[in-house]
Amino acid sequence: GGWLGILGGGQLGRMTALAAARLGIRCHVFTPEREGPAEQVCARATIAPYQDLVALDRFAQSVDALTFEFENVPAASLAALEHNRPGGRVLPLRPGPRALEIAQDRVREKTFFGELGIPTAPWHPIDGPIALQAALLAVGGPAILKTNRLGYDGKGQVRLKPGDDATAAWNALGGVPAVLEGMVPFTAEVSVIIARGVDGATACFEPTENVHRNGILHTSTVPARLTPAQIEQAKAIALTAARALDLVGLLAVELFVAPDGALLANEMAPRPHNSGHWTMDACHADQFEQLVRAVCGLPLGDPGRFRPMRMTNLIGVDAETWPAILARPGARLHLYGKADCRPGRKMGHVNDPFDPAGDAR
Ligand code: ATP
Ligand code: MG
Ligand code: MG
Repeated sequence: GGWLGILGGGQLGRMTALAAARLGIRCHVFTPEREGPAEQVCARATIAPYQDLVALDRFAQSVDALTFEFENVPAASLAALEHNRPGGRVLPLRPGPRALEIAQDRVREKTFFGELGIPTAPWHPIDGPIALQAALLAVGGPAILKTNRLGYDGKGQVRLKPGDDATAAWNALGGVPAVLEGMVPFTAEVSVIIARGVDGATACFEPTENVHRNGILHTSTVPARLTPAQIEQAKAIALTAARALDLVGLLAVELFVAPDGALLANEMAPRPHNSGHWTMDACHADQFEQLVRAVCGLPLGDPGRFRPMRMTNLIGVDAETWPAILARPGARLHLYGKADCRPGRKMGHVNDPFDPAGDAR
């Protein structure tokens, strides 16, 4: 029983609420968006902007625990939510504001990895065109400039090479604080998702191999083409980061496989992750169920995988394509209930059984 609050009304909230319902837990979603993916499947919804502290307050008082699917909830709103409860009670906010604050900010995130001894691409904080000019020289090769905050699906990024116009690049990103990273000539991209419970117990999914198209995740495939040592290393990185954050919930870490086989951390997200959607049809407990279990103080489930799987995102593809997918043997279609289909918009995903022997990645 009980009520789980979800901040954010997109597909991640929808799939979290569906998993919660299976465990007899009802969800109250807080979202600025009317009739979004999560609202359609939640027992209660509050439609208001994240800055509406009165609405947030009422919301907080209606739930027993709170999680979020939207990374950029203002940290101040979260801190207020956590403490403003009748009778001085503290609302369990899982993960806590610290995980969110670090993951919202690329400088803090990369500093966090560095302090834990988790390798990353070479990077430099950028506060203007002069710093950018110097960092481009220091990197000395292909590089990528990313806004420090609010970037997703490759938005807020420009690729640069030595000799490019630093002022133009700085202006192209809107003149906001950024980081310059050396381009990693990776042989593969992988990610790993770990769940951590209220008692500190952890359960890590197998790393998955990811292919991006136009900066957006296209496919996630398990098994990834990693050695047993790399698999253990990926899981160890996730465990180290989750413990350091004292996280309760999920943590996804995106990694590059460098040409020498080393794993370099790209970024992390303290929430369900698009690259974990394969778990819905291939694991005993999927990422959404693990999130619900963790934030509600329940025992974590078994993250073990029982079949090879490939998840393909359905981006900007409309309802005309659903029947063909439904007709495909073994295919599991997950739609997000979005009314209008626009280019680049994630409409759903499909999980297909995968044959590693016939792989053409
Ligand atoms: P997400 O939607 O995953 O949050 P994002 O907008 O935060 O994406 P990143 O994950 O940083 O962006 O970058 C998007 C993609 O661009 C990466 O998955 C990778 O394919 C490529 N990329 C980013 N940084 C680098 C790098 N330093 N070297 C090589 N490729 C990179
Ligand atoms: Mg990101
Ligand atoms: Mg990313």
